[in-house]
Order: sequence, then structure tokens, then C-alpha cells
Amino acid sequence: MKTVIVTGGLGFIGSNLINILNNKNYFIINIDRLSYAANLKNINPNVKNYKLYKEDINNKTFIKNILNKYNPSIIYNLAAETHVDRSIDSPKNFINSNILGVFNILESIKNNKKKIKLIHISTDEVYGDIKKNYKSKENDAYNPSSPYAASKASGDLLIKSYIRTYKLNAIITNCCNNYGPNQYPEKLIPTIIYSLLKDQAIPIYGNGKNIREWIFVKDHCNALIKISKYGKLGENYNIGSGVVFNNIEIAKKIISIFKNLNNKNVLKSKIHFIKDRPGHDVRYCLDSSKIKNLTKWECPSNFDNKIKETIIWYTNKFKTNWFKKKFKKRIGLKT
Ligand code: NAD
Repeated sequence: MKTVIVTGGLGFIGSNLINILNNKNYFIINIDRLSYAANLKNINPNVKNYKLYKEDINNKTFIKNILNKYNPSIIYNLAAETHVDRSIDSPKNFINSNILGVFNILESIKNNKKKIKLIHISTDEVYGDIKKNYKSKENDAYNPSSPYAASKASGDLLIKSYIRTYKLNAIITNCCNNYGPNQYPEKLIPTIIYSLLKDQAIPIYGNGKNIREWIFVKDHCNALIKISKYGKLGENYNIGSGVVFNNIEIAKKIISIFKNLNNKNVLKSKIHFIKDRPGHDVRYCLDSSKIKNLTKWECPSNFDNKIKETIIWYTNKFKTNWFKKKFKKRIGLKT
């Protein structure tokens, strides 16, 4: 049985990845420092061959010991600070996890004889704001706008330098916006759903015309597994779904599906435009032909079906103690 490490495995994407890897006969080690975004309940309760370490990826001695003890073949690095608004308010945590944390992992595996494969999970935000009709390609220059995007871009560049200088076995993936179960409710889609559940105004930044590409989280995770098998070492791969909406369109879609599901004809919830986020990028969109050509991966899920599944998941979550404890008052973006 192969041993793999997933860092940040109590967060949104990491936990979905662990739940999928668990059905594929791996021994899985999860390293997560349990930040505010982590939730122990994100991991399937029937998980087997699994060990959780509550640790920071910046802990040098710990990472070295884990590598010696378990001799893993792959590290999926998803440990990161991820919320753009928080990066604007306090960027330091982003430097710690997204740059220094990556640096520590790189130093720890640099001289490892087994040549561990590092799959580093990055974002489309590193390419920055792109023009209408353009799609970012893997070799485009990085042009990040927010401290979050800049910290991710810096982590990616460090990895690229280690690939070239130390012949590190690493692959970087740049994915678009994810949606689905287990996401911390500060992000756009859970915020919209919770606003509807509370029958409150739906906060949308600026004029709501910001365009994003949306992928169902499990499709992203399956693409990561494919890349860890077939991806060429030293390369970057974009992972996009081709499903592109602006924020108003997303909110309207969710409102309409929510109404059908809940039979609520007289909802008071309305889109409420709030002061824009500083430096807010207007458009991201990925050219994902490289991964498609290499692995024959096609993003399989239908957006309407998966968003419906997602609404049902958050509706059930809304009733739990975890949610009630964390979000006593209103959730969502700053108004
Ligand atoms: P998340 O915020 O839901 O989870 C991050 C997890 O990492 C948390 O459990 C947290 O406790 C842990 N963590 C943070 N810093 C750590 C550290 N120093 N040591 C150990 N654990 C630490 O994030 P997510 O949405 O699951 O994102 C995972 C990765 O995917 C990130 O690198 C992010 O940049 C990337 N990504 C996310 C999206 C998206 O739409 N969510 C899109 C593209 C790329």
C-alpha cells in the first residue's frame, strides 16, 4: 500500500481529496495545523488507513521525522491560508503558510533519496486579471493582485526554482474556483446559500460583474490524482471546468434552485451590492487543454446538478452545532 501525505487535509479541498483517496487503497497522513478553516468532521467517519497530525508545515523537525518514519511517495500540499479578504486585512499568516511553509517542505524533501513527488496545489489567481475572451496558459507570466495571490505565486516560483536547481520531483497545479461540500462558509457560494437560509440580503461585491470559472471540488480532486499518476515532473497544469459565470449569475442560479428545492415563493433575500474589495480582479479563466491532452481528463460534472447537491449539503449543515457555534450572528462578507 502506497503512503501519501496530504497537508491541509481538514480544509475544504484537502478533506475531499482524503475522502476520495481513502477508497483507493492508500495509507494517508494528514498534516493540518487546525486553523479556523479546518473541521475534523470534514473527514469521512469510516476512514481507514489514516493518521492525522495536528501540526504546522513550518515545523522542520516534525516534517523530517514524518518523512523518515513513513517514507511517503507523494505529498499533496494543500495547507494554505486561502481567503482573499483575510489576506488584505492581515497578510502575515499568508506569508507564513503559503511561502515559508512551502519553503520548509522544499528544504525537507530536497535531499530525500526516495525522490518524493510533490504535487503543489495552486490557483488561477496567480495569473491576475485577464482580458475578455483570453484564457490563461501554463507558461503565462504571473501577475498576482491580492496578498493571497502574491503569496501563492511566490510559493509556486520557489518550487519552480527548486525543480530547476535541485531537480526536485514536483508538479504545480493551478485550479479555478471550487464549490461543493466542506467549504468554510466565508466564501461566496456558502455565503449565498446561508443568506438564503436566513432570508437575509445576499452580499455581492461591487457591481457583481466579476467573472470566475467554477469546478466541483471532487472533479478537482480526481484531476489531482490523475496528475500525480500521469503528470510530467517539473510541469504546471491548469485545472478548469469551462463553467464560467459572473457573481450575479451565480447568485441568481442559486436563488432559483433554492426556491425550487424549498418551495419558498416569497423570499425576502435579495442581492445587495456592497463596497468592492480593494484590487478586486475582474476576470479569471483557464486554458485547460494541457491536462486534457495528457490525461484525457474531462471535467465530468454538470454545474446545475452539483450546485443543487451543494445547496442540500449546506442546508443540512446549517442545522448542526458546529455551524451554530461558529456563526452565531450573520455570516458572510463584510457589509
Ligand atoms: P481551506 O482554507 O479550506 O483549508 C486550508 C487548510 O490548511 C486548513 O485546514 C488549515 O488548517 C490548513 N493550514 C493552513 N496553514 C497551515 C500550515 N501552516 N500548516 C498546516 N496546515 C495549515 O483551503 P482550500 O480551499 O481547501 O484550499 C486548499 C488549497 O487549494 C490552497 O492551497 C488554495 O490556494 C488552493 N486552491 C483553492 C481553491 C478554492 O476555490 N478553494 C481554488 C484553487 C486553488
